[in-house]
Amino acid sequence: MSAIKPMKPLINRRTMIGMLGGVTATLALPNIVSGKKTPKRHIITLSFDDGFKKSSLLTASIYEKYKLSACINVIATGHLSNFKSPDDYQVTEKGDFGLWNELKARGHEVMPHGYKHANKTTIPLRDAQDLVSRCLDFFSRNLKGFEPEKAIFNMPYNASTPELEEWLATQVLAFRTGGVAINEMPQKKTKKLTCGAFGPGSTEEHLEQQIKNLLALPQGWLIYNTHGLDGEGWGPMRSTFLDRLLDRLMAIESVAVLPAGKVLEGI
Ligand SMILES: [Zn+2]
Repeated sequence: MSAIKPMKPLINRRTMIGMLGGVTATLALPNIVSGKKTPKRHIITLSFDDGFKKSSLLTASIYEKYKLSACINVIATGHLSNFKSPDDYQVTEKGDFGLWNELKARGHEVMPHGYKHANKTTIPLRDAQDLVSRCLDFFSRNLKGFEPEKAIFNMPYNASTPELEEWLATQVLAFRTGGVAINEMPQKKTKKLTCGAFGPGSTEEHLEQQIKNLLALPQGWLIYNTHGLDGEGWGPMRSTFLDRLLDRLMAIESVAVLPAGKVLEGI
């Protein structure tokens, strides 16, 4: 469990979530110690990896039902015919940049999850840096409005090394890797995000527990790495579960459900 240290208020202005299906959704993230009526003390980011076409479309539509932005992390070359699935959980169809541009235009966050989904702890630092650079270049060329300095790089397998992390912090806004699920409230200097995950079976029970853990704390930012829906990918959840979960979370005044980049953009 994360040690949540007392800290100064960090989220202190209104955050625009963006256009969702033609409706502008705004969410107030007031100063957490200002005593305002609906302080968002518990931030929840469900960080969907691997870019499965079917699951990404379904995830986006469920988020849109609640006027929320989904957090979708995709592999730069995952849609190409020569892409080699790194494991048995990734053999289903990936979306392409036509779909990622569409989902981004609909208000969702689409962020990099590697050039080819390599585990960067098993290759030399220079090779890992080269793959990250190629990934960011690919996104810059193919995803409208993508800027590395505003990107969250989501490590494949949540695997990184201290040397790579130090370098990554100079390349992107922040990066997500393995570690505790509950992060401290974000600050301007926040670069390293850590996340929880569960698999290969259903992630639902484990996710529920992480949310309970978060809500038992005075404040915190739960970043939970998820994948596909309805049996797709590693550690999937049912679409009906996601729908009901968002419905429940939206009813909790202290909770904000946001993609990671939007959280950091809002501080
Ligand atoms: Zn992955």
